[in-house]
Amino acid sequence: MDNPIEALHSHAPLPDHIIGQTELQYWDTSTQAALVRVGFLAETHNATYATCFECHSDHSEPVIERSDGSFALWCPDAGTVDIPSTALRQWTLNQRTCAHWLGEQLGMTTAPDECVPGRVFHWSRCILGGARYSITLVRGLEWPDGATLLPELNLTPRCIVLSLGTRPALPDKTPIVYAGTIWNYLDYDEEEEKLLFEIDYFIEDIGSNNSAQKKPAKKAPRKKAQLIDESAQIKNELIKHICSVQHALRDKHDFIPAPSQSSIAKLCGLNRDRITRCKQHDPRITQLFEIAADPDQVRSFNPKLYQ
Ligand SMILES: [Zn+2]
Repeated sequence: MDNPIEALHSHAPLPDHIIGQTELQYWDTSTQAALVRVGFLAETHNATYATCFECHSDHSEPVIERSDGSFALWCPDAGTVDIPSTALRQWTLNQRTCAHWLGEQLGMTTAPDECVPGRVFHWSRCILGGARYSITLVRGLEWPDGATLLPELNLTPRCIVLSLGTRPALPDKTPIVYAGTIWNYLDYDEEEEKLLFEIDYFIEDIGSNNSAQKKPAKKAPRKKAQLIDESAQIKNELIKHICSVQHALRDKHDFIPAPSQSSIAKLCGLNRDRITRCKQHDPRITQLFEIAADPDQVRSFNPKLYQ
């Protein structure tokens, strides 16, 4: 299953990002549903072309709408081919909703100024990690007309520029605090079934950018070391839990259900969203959660395989 956040990341820099049913069918459905719920993904007009599935030549043809509202295409081999209307549904990224959602995640109580419709959103005051910044969210700085947006970005020494596409390329020596893309900070929380903005990570990046005078190469190893360290803590807590339940089962006590992700986070002194990040880093964490939920797997558990 494709990760919709990554898929959207690759679509987002495009001026016309239409996502059709053929692509959508491979997406992880729960993340996709969360993206629709928050309004990132919005349904748009139906596809005007469809791929023929009757013959094997994989050709795309204009969609014919019949007078009764049903759809078809013309295949040179198979003749008229019915197309279910669901196959024509298309989705797009709603940048306005993205901007409002981002504002909420950053604790903003007011809507952004939309300086350029659908392209530049601005908040003049945002407090992050105790410091005050202004935030500009931009879309399409990388497009051919991107330079026309520059005067609208309100670039000041306290400004953070976030892009809805790729990392914004700004002129050299632009006096801002930080430039990045929102896609680096989005994550899906499986347990709470909602989209997250990893604000701790964001503040950390702003901070290290501020103090390290823009040396991003230095950030990666520290983050990596932190991830390895946190993943080890989480694994240890899960292994401890599973082993104690294993002993309890041997002593004929009842099975104790798997701990929740939140309770493991608490035991490790971590924020809840770090569990998701660590699971991506080390798949054994997911396996350990699965083992903890299954009495048979707990009975045959060998901790040495997971350390
Ligand atoms: Zn055909």
